[in-house]
Amino acid sequence: MKKSGVIAEFGYVRDNEWKWDIATRRPLLDWERVMWNDFLRLVDSSNINPEMVDSLAWTSNSNGLFTIKSFCKSAKVEYGPLDKIWELVWSGLSPPNVEAFVWRLVHGRIPTKIELSKREAIGANEVECPLCKENAEIVPHLFCHCKYAWTVWSKWCNVWNIHFTMPSNIRDLLLSWKDMTPKFVNGQVWIMCAFSFIWSIWKCRNDAVFNARNHGVEYLFDQAVLRLAWWSKTRWPDGRWAVTDIVADPSRLKEVQTSPTTMQQTRWTAPGRGSLKFNTDAAVQGSYGMAGVGGVLRDENAKILMYFSKGVGVCDVMTAVLVAINKALTIFVDSKWSKEYEVILESDNKIAIEWLLDHSLSPAHFRNLIYNSLEASSRIRCRFSHVSREGNSLADNLAKRGGGGKSQGAGILRATVILKCPGQPAIFKRILVFCACKDGNCRIFLLYRTMQLHCALFFLQ
Ligand SMILES: [Zn+2]
Repeated sequence: MKKSGVIAEFGYVRDNEWKWDIATRRPLLDWERVMWNDFLRLVDSSNINPEMVDSLAWTSNSNGLFTIKSFCKSAKVEYGPLDKIWELVWSGLSPPNVEAFVWRLVHGRIPTKIELSKREAIGANEVECPLCKENAEIVPHLFCHCKYAWTVWSKWCNVWNIHFTMPSNIRDLLLSWKDMTPKFVNGQVWIMCAFSFIWSIWKCRNDAVFNARNHGVEYLFDQAVLRLAWWSKTRWPDGRWAVTDIVADPSRLKEVQTSPTTMQQTRWTAPGRGSLKFNTDAAVQGSYGMAGVGGVLRDENAKILMYFSKGVGVCDVMTAVLVAINKALTIFVDSKWSKEYEVILESDNKIAIEWLLDHSLSPAHFRNLIYNSLEASSRIRCRFSHVSREGNSLADNLAKRGGGGKSQGAGILRATVILKCPGQPAIFKRILVFCACKDGNCRIFLLYRTMQLHCALFFLQ
């Protein structure tokens, strides 16, 4: 048959219906006839309408547009359920390069020394594991059984009081790791953790091979936890704990909020007679970045009595929220309404309100801000109240106008560098990093840069 051409050359329209007419150059052999019938069934299954204009369409999606999701769905239907391991590998919980690495790892396509020696890239006597120098470097050894890898995995399980038996290969390790997610930790954080360990082992191994740097196992563990803390903070920036808090006590990861809380569809409600309501909010670019705070004071008729909206420089989310509350209270104390009215201070940040109601719950570095607010509130009649985001929208807009909105990029981010020597307490240092794109969007890039800086500083210690 003719091997190429437009569809019109292989059929015709009769009675408004498309008929295929595909000529063959020679009579078909018996075994070819089966294939030919299959082929005709396939082309017949498509609906050719001569009235329609030609266009490209992705048939697995009702709107004709290609999406990765629709592809995965159709592949699942066509080839049966996907192997569980791939759902895990491509779970989107770590940076794409790390996912791609784990995918290659599961496929056994990592250039370990054994693989290199098979291809005669290195000698048969140069295959020892660069970390422990005791066994040959094969994938299960490097990532599962090497004393470095084993210490990291088991040390992590000790944090959660989990008994862990190491499987014989990386595939079983990933699958069993998912199955042993502790009840009180969100599964996404737990999987992210496995990716962070695998990637950190590989980075540490490369440092040993290419830079002749032999880090201790403590260093490897710290790196893996730091990486995990950054990833989780990048993915869930509204979490209660800062990166430094998570590194200091990894068990805090159980409090990482991994799914959006159900948003209550409540509107702002006016205060009762004799009360005024001060709604406050903060907006921060990323987890650390330029922040703005805003607040609005309204009476029982929703009349706006006053408002504020200002930038507060670079800080984290919780600091900005507490600064907004503090600012509102200070303004109200000095206002003409403070003698006559009770004020209800509302924020959509539940944690901040909890801390104000019981300051012993707050981490030490927020205490000053909280004490200042409590001191101001003691001079007036004041109640603290939590409100849904929906009910706090005006204050939220004011905060964004104050400089915390994404559009007003400042090109500056705060990062934390952790300096740690084995056996010594960690030293945390906050540094400012300048963002090249100036809109605050290259956060992940900066995180990696920060990682390198952490390593470099570590060596200087
Ligand atoms: Zn080893």
